[in-house]
This record gives sequence, C-alpha cells and structure tokens, in this order.
Amino acid sequence: MSTTTAHALQVLNPIDGQLIASLPGDDRESVDKVAAGLRDAQVAWCDTDPRDRARWMRLWRDWILAHTEELTDLLQAETGKVRPDALVETTVSCEFITYYADHAEEFLADEKIKSAGLLSLPKRLSTSYHPYPVVGLITPWNFPITLFLMDAAPALAAGCAVLAKSSEETPLTCARVVEGWTEIGAPPVLAHVVGSGATGAAVVDAVDYVQFTGSTATGRAVAVRCAELLKPVSLELGGKDPAIVLEDADLARAVEGIAWGGLFNAGQVCISVERVYVVADIYDEFVERLIKRVQSLTQGAAAGDDVGAMVTTRQVDIADRHVTEAVAAGARVAAGGTRGASGNYYAPTVLVDVTHEMACMTEETFGPTIPVMRVADEDEAVRLANDSVYGLSATVWTRDHARAQRIARRLEAGAVNINDVFSNLFASALPHSGWKVSGIGARLGGAYGMRKYCRVQALTQPRIPVLARELTWYPYTSRRTAIAGTVLRAVAGRGLRQRLGLSKEKCK
Ligand code: NDP
Repeated sequence: MSTTTAHALQVLNPIDGQLIASLPGDDRESVDKVAAGLRDAQVAWCDTDPRDRARWMRLWRDWILAHTEELTDLLQAETGKVRPDALVETTVSCEFITYYADHAEEFLADEKIKSAGLLSLPKRLSTSYHPYPVVGLITPWNFPITLFLMDAAPALAAGCAVLAKSSEETPLTCARVVEGWTEIGAPPVLAHVVGSGATGAAVVDAVDYVQFTGSTATGRAVAVRCAELLKPVSLELGGKDPAIVLEDADLARAVEGIAWGGLFNAGQVCISVERVYVVADIYDEFVERLIKRVQSLTQGAAAGDDVGAMVTTRQVDIADRHVTEAVAAGARVAAGGTRGASGNYYAPTVLVDVTHEMACMTEETFGPTIPVMRVADEDEAVRLANDSVYGLSATVWTRDHARAQRIARRLEAGAVNINDVFSNLFASALPHSGWKVSGIGARLGGAYGMRKYCRVQALTQPRIPVLARELTWYPYTSRRTAIAGTVLRAVAGRGLRQRLGLSKEKCK
C-alpha cells in the first residue's frame, strides 16, 4: 500500500498501515537518464556470448536463493501475503532464470530456412535474432517478483537491457532483487525505477519494447501510446477465469483445487478461479464441501494462517462491492462475506444463487471470493464460461480426459488446466497469453518467450555463382522482358502445361 507526496513515495504495510519505507520517485528526466545508461551498457552485453550471459544469470539466481529469507520478509511486509504465498514468489520464480539461462544459446541460434519454392531456390535462406536494446517491464502489485522475473529472465538472456517499473504499491522487493544483480557484479544492464503511473508512462516512452502486466484499462492506454510511437508491446491483462465441474469429477480434488485456486494470494492472481459452474447432479455436494473447506481456513499474518491481506484498500472495496451487489440482487453468502476489522482483509467468501448478470460473475474481482453457479450440463457450462469479455485461462474438472480436452478446445481462453489450477504458469515451455481483452501477445512459451525480445533479421545469399545482373533487373528490353516473362511463368505456374503457358486458364 502506498501514498505519494510531492517528494517521496511512501510504502505502507497493508496489515497495519505502518510506514515501511519512503522513497524518492523517478520523474521523466530520471527515467530517461537511467534508460540512456542502460542503452550504453547494452552494446557490450549484446555482444557477450550467450553462455557468459547465462553465467551471470545463474549467479543472480544463486543470490536470490541465498537471500530468500530477507526477500520473503520484505515481500510480506509490502503485500500482506501469508508466508507460503510469499515463498512461492521468492523461490519458484528462480525457475524462469534457470530455464532461460539454460536455453539461451539454443533459442538464439541462427536458423536455416527451407526455400519456399522455385523463386528462392537459388538462395541460401536464414534468420538471426537481434535483441531490442532496452526492454521496459511494467508490473502490478500482486506478484512483484514473479511477474518481473518471468520477463526479465528471457529479455536479459536474449541480450537486452531491462528497465523495470514495479507498482508504486509494492516497489521494495523488486528493487532489492535488482540490487542483487549489481551486488554480484553483473554488467549494468538492469535497473529499477520507482513511481506511479506517470513513471510508467515515462518508461513506455524511453524503451524500445514494452512488456506490460496489469489491468485491461491501463493496458489499453499503454497500447494506444505504443501505437502512436509505433513501438512493439506485449500485454498481459485482467481475467475472469471460469472453472467447470462436471458430474464425473473427482469431487475432493475439485473442491481443494478450486478453494486454493480462488483464494491463493487472497485471490489477487490474474488466473485465479473467479467463477465456478457446477453441473446440477453434483452441485449440492460440491457446494457443501467447498463451504466446509473455505470455512476451515484461517486469515491473518501469523504462521499457519492460510489467507493473507489484500495489497490495497481499493481492492478490498471492489471485492466488498461485488458481494454486496450480488446479495442485493438475490445471491446468498455461504461463507465469509465480511471485511476485516482492521487491515486490508476480506474474509474468504463463497457466493451461491448467483446469476450471470451480477458483477461478481462478469467483472474481475481480484479478491478472495468464489461465486458458484448451478448449470444444467456441459454445454451450458461452456456457453457461460465463454460469455465474458475476458479469456485468460480456465479449468475443467472431470475424470474423462478426452472429454476435458474436447471442452478445452471449445473454451475461449489462453490456457486450460485440466483437474488443476495455475500449473500452466510455471511451465516455462508453454505460452502464457490472454485472449479477448485479457491481452495481446504472450509471455514464456519456450523459444517464443525469448525471441519476442528480439528483432528477427532475414538473410539471403546466392547458392550458385552469380551473373553480372539478374534477369529481372534493367535494362527492360523486349527480348529480356519476353524471356523473363517465360521464366517467371514457369516458376509461378503449377503443372507442366501451366508452367509452359499451354493451358487456357478461365477467369470469371
Ligand atoms: P494497473 O494496470 O493499475 O497497473 C499496472 C502497472 O502499470 C503499475 O506498475 C502501474 O503503476 C503502471 N501504470 C499505471 N498507469 C500507467 C501508464 N499510464 N503508463 C504506464 N504504466 C502505468 O494494474 P494493477 O497494479 O492494479 O494490477 C492488477 C491487474 O493486473 C489485474 O487486472 C490483474 O488481472 C492484472 N494482472 C495480469 C496478469 C497477467 O499475466 N495477465 C498477471 C498479474 C496481474 P502504479 O501501480 O504505480 O500506478
């Protein structure tokens, strides 16, 4: 949680409102200066062998793992996460560094390309990858380290310099991880700036490629600015992820998975379970078990607590509004449904008797609420799951894997996890992308996740000894034109008669 004064950004603990740190913010001039320094340093970094870049990255990973306790404490202080949720960030995120360090050489290698036809047959074709000089990473407050490392790792490994701007609500842990890069003595190609939306806007203007993670509204504004500047941008935005529970599901696992998928990190996860569709046959039993599980969870900051605080009061207000409006429209709170007496807490909540018109089923809540709706069958579940402007991810719960795969293909979502939640996010070889208003482009996805930070260069070179001039070059004499026409027809045509100009094509 933060407040901004004219001189400094104040970071507050979401649990007790205590001041944790007061930092000078970076204005446009400061952002430009940092970006210029990165641009200079990137020239040598880009020329460094990918294996040497990978060595720096592994040292950085080792530094993060050696500082896990310190980073986890800091992360908990600025976000209000419970320890297990914070630990996922400070440990598992290192996997992105390892993956891209290990694969950098392979993913960046030049590629030989097969000729597309007779026209390019006399040429050797290849492509090579050239990193954007400075990549800007703008990230939200829900996962200050994970969402930064997911993109910093492939971009640095590709040979880019990286300018990170984390949310003004939670700048501390990311800033410390970036300090770690300096502490290991790595080249000065990674920097962090602090500030509000204006600082983010300055980053957009200063860099060569923008990777934005955040709300759909801000993502749209960033995309508009990038369009004006003709600057490449990749957007990872909001979601309203559906879970579909079918009559043949392993009910115990579905309940556990959906409870965790909806409440992990106090529901502040872009791919959290935000709405659940359960077929009528098992609806009552599912709801009864889910209520029991959710009511068993404890909330707070003590060791052993399950659900933490929310980062901002604004986000608590949104969760509260969605529940209050739903109840006013006929829904029933089956568990939770209340704000904490102090701090940014909202009780883990199950809502039943909801309809598809309610905000809790249509707008992103980004809080610890699980609205559940009864559906007649699989078809109704799929129809309602797709009835959303968002398309980030979805889950399907059934013992029949072939059926789950068929349903997955019908779902309008960038990822579908079968009998699981979040597992796509930690599979670096899979792309993480939002459909519809959930994003443009993708992150991770093996080679794609690194090559997106590069400009691709196409190269042609003659395969055979070359003439002084090609047939299609000047001069355009009648004789050369006639020969070129015959040759080009032979190349473009299909079948001997067409290539020789003997067939009579019919044009309507
Ligand atoms: P915001 O869109 O409000 O902010 C995201 C980042 O953009 C912050 O660093 C913010 O700075 C910055 N910013 C604000 N205005 C501008 C601007 N004009 N130009 C450039 N940068 C700007 O999102 P939240 O922080 O509220 O995060 C929650 C959202 O993020 C949810 O919608 C969630 O679904 C989404 N998200 C998506 C993920 C995905 O992978 N698809 C992953 C995680 C979250 P500041 O905070 O300092 O104002």
